[in-house]
Amino acid sequence: MSRQVYLDYAATTFTAPEVVSAMGPYFTESFGNPSSIYSFSERNRKAIDAARQKVADVLGASKEEIYFTSGGTEADNWALKGAAWRNRSKGNHVITTKIEHHAVLHTAQFLQENGFDVTFLDVDAEGRISLDELKKAVTDKTILVSVMFANNEIGTLQPVAEIGTFCREKGILFHTDAVQAVAHVPIDVKAMNIDLLSLSAHKFYGPKGVGALYIRKGVRIDNFMHGGGQERGRRATTENVAGIVGLGAAIELTSGRMDTAPARIGRLRDMLVEGVMKTIPHAKLNGAPSGERLPNNANFSFIGIEGETLLLDLDGAGIYGSTGSACSSGSLDPSHVLMAIGLSHEQAHGSLRLTLGEETTEEDIRYVLSTLPGIVKHRREMSPLWEDYLKSAEGGR
Ligand code: PLP
Repeated sequence: MSRQVYLDYAATTFTAPEVVSAMGPYFTESFGNPSSIYSFSERNRKAIDAARQKVADVLGASKEEIYFTSGGTEADNWALKGAAWRNRSKGNHVITTKIEHHAVLHTAQFLQENGFDVTFLDVDAEGRISLDELKKAVTDKTILVSVMFANNEIGTLQPVAEIGTFCREKGILFHTDAVQAVAHVPIDVKAMNIDLLSLSAHKFYGPKGVGALYIRKGVRIDNFMHGGGQERGRRATTENVAGIVGLGAAIELTSGRMDTAPARIGRLRDMLVEGVMKTIPHAKLNGAPSGERLPNNANFSFIGIEGETLLLDLDGAGIYGSTGSACSSGSLDPSHVLMAIGLSHEQAHGSLRLTLGEETTEEDIRYVLSTLPGIVKHRREMSPLWEDYLKSAEGGR
């Protein structure tokens, strides 16, 4: 079989074989409903409890502060809507950023349509918010700040601890979407003064369709799913036992590798970035420098080509990545994140995100570095956009 290089770990990871093994018994022999009081279901109740403890341990939380959800999107929806609705009597102002994942962005827009006043903070050219801008945006009606921990497209890390300290002093709830960060960078919800945090198992070698929301003890937010008494009456529906067990196993596995894996992956990412910047003329690295972004994230713009075409050519060579170009997201506009950091439409359309993971090897990176420059060169030679760009670059000299 020809070479296959998966470099889209930010979209999703494989489920680790150890995780699959841990989940197995909960589909077959141990299938009892955790709410049933007979002893047959006892193992399931204990397994959910153990998974809750594992998530809590990694975040520096207590187990009673962890609520399982169907994924990151649900956790984000619950955090924003639940906090906004519950605290409406105190104020109707919510602050978030222009670069949030759609799970937060569209929820914030929904709140806006329903009587809330929402401020969408700008970011700088590397994708970071300004604390001063945040402070200036706060009014006596501000009830919630939601700033993502790490961006899913460009990997930029936000000053989460500083935001947390400021919000706590002001008595404003602070939510962070940490879907891309959990088990990739260290997080301590207490030290960072985080009130609400979203995570999702399929970003750290767990199964798809399961996540969690951390709700700090004492924080009052409305319940999200109404029905039975599961998750202490706060999130109804029969528990996804196997998924929850998988989430627990995955967070334990990945956080156990935190001392080595991010450094190894970061070195490979740096090798990739260096190689691309050296071999492809007029390439741009989007996002923050190494050390201020997720260790596995690289995001480039190659002016003069279309991201979709590039992805198809890479696919033909067995390399799987993603782009912030328009068609791939099913909308007319290119990525809101790339636009927010000030890229031109042309730069955003020619973007390529490559995200590395557990199975990425130096050989893989060498293969990409031997393949990508030729593809970019070939596409540029065929592109009127590239010709126009060169002419304007020459004219500007
Ligand atoms: N938030 C961020 C930053 C993400 O990257 C994603 C998924 O890509 C989500 C939320 C949504 O998570 P899920 O796919 O578990 O709903």
